Amino acid sequence: MPSSLGHPALAPFGTTIFATMSALAAEHGAINLGQGFPDTDGPAEVLEAAVTAIRSGLNQYPPGPGVPALLEAVAAHQSRFYGLSLDPRSEVLVTVGATEAIAATVLALVRPGDEVVTFEPYYDSYAATIALAGGVRRTSVLRFPDFAVDEESLRAAFSPRTRLVLLNTPHNPTGKVFTRAELDLVCELAREHDAWVVTDEVYEHLTFDGVEHVPVATLPGMRERTLTISSAGKTFSTTGWKVGWVSGPAEAVAAVRAVKQFVTYVGSGPFQHAVATGLGLDDAVFAGLARSLQAKRDRLVSGLRAAGMTVSVPQGTYFVVADAAPLGAVDALSFCHELPERAGVVGVPVSVFHDDVDAARTLVRFAFCKEDAVLDEACRRLAALGG
Ligand code: PMP
Ligand code: GLN
Repeated sequence: MPSSLGHPALAPFGTTIFATMSALAAEHGAINLGQGFPDTDGPAEVLEAAVTAIRSGLNQYPPGPGVPALLEAVAAHQSRFYGLSLDPRSEVLVTVGATEAIAATVLALVRPGDEVVTFEPYYDSYAATIALAGGVRRTSVLRFPDFAVDEESLRAAFSPRTRLVLLNTPHNPTGKVFTRAELDLVCELAREHDAWVVTDEVYEHLTFDGVEHVPVATLPGMRERTLTISSAGKTFSTTGWKVGWVSGPAEAVAAVRAVKQFVTYVGSGPFQHAVATGLGLDDAVFAGLARSLQAKRDRLVSGLRAAGMTVSVPQGTYFVVADAAPLGAVDALSFCHELPERAGVVGVPVSVFHDDVDAARTLVRFAFCKEDAVLDEACRRLAALGG
């Protein structure tokens, strides 16, 4: 066998934390609050639409950019919720989940040596795809417990080599929703450095306490330099379907499509039709999911507090970040590797999403998109650890 295997740019990355933690959960029969996926199904209409699409023979390759019904549904969704007007044919591209949208966008825009500004903790595929593109990651740290943007370090992360900013709001893993003032600062710096903003908004509908998600593309002067990414996985509780999309100026979307065509060409045929149905559902369906998740957030936050942890209360997403130091954690990485066996619970160490691992030494991310009884049992087990 030829020796050196593996892409050299990926050498530092190893196996994604989500695969590692879900495997540990299975091995120990532990409650998996690690990888973020719901344990109940989403809207029945969406599931039925997938069955109908399969039964009506929509099972062959869809068109490269995505099925027209979904392209139109994405454009209509951006108009309905945010007042953004998009040409479905040239300004929207369907991808295999947001993951492919992120990778294809970064590969399309970043040239070797270009700098990419992002916040840490960051979603794990950001670092890997920036590396695959030959880009250089420049980060600004969001610090527990409020995860506010630090203006000085953000300014310092920009340079004449900045090609794009990779933003995520609502933010995984912190559950932070960027404020309007923070977004304005990011946008001002992007405009000043003539950089693209790639904004990962997969949790756009999962915000709590009346906090509003503000898409970057709606901000003044940003439409022409922003590529917006989202996914049906979170909005319709269908993470396994892997239907995502990217929208923005036609030329940039064409550049992303050029990469995507040689990575997957197309994906998720019948599910694309089902997601088109989902995006057209009433506002109440979108609001209902957020309301149900807010109650789960409250349940997990109070359970983790009762177990002795300090918690940052998230305004969005599936996730809560808690400090496990009061439970004896010195290093969340080893704590989380031991937790499935010791307590029968799985969480994710936030330090794996950091360059500056000390910024998150004892922080653990727990997912609350689970049945109430599952959350209660996980908290009971964690409380027993402390006692
Ligand atoms: N971005 C963020 C911030 C995420 O949390 C996730 C994971 N769900 C993704 C992208 C990937 O989304 P998808 O499953 O649609 O590929
Ligand atoms: N986005 C999910 C999370 O943060 C996991 C997705 C994946 O497994 N790649 O938990």
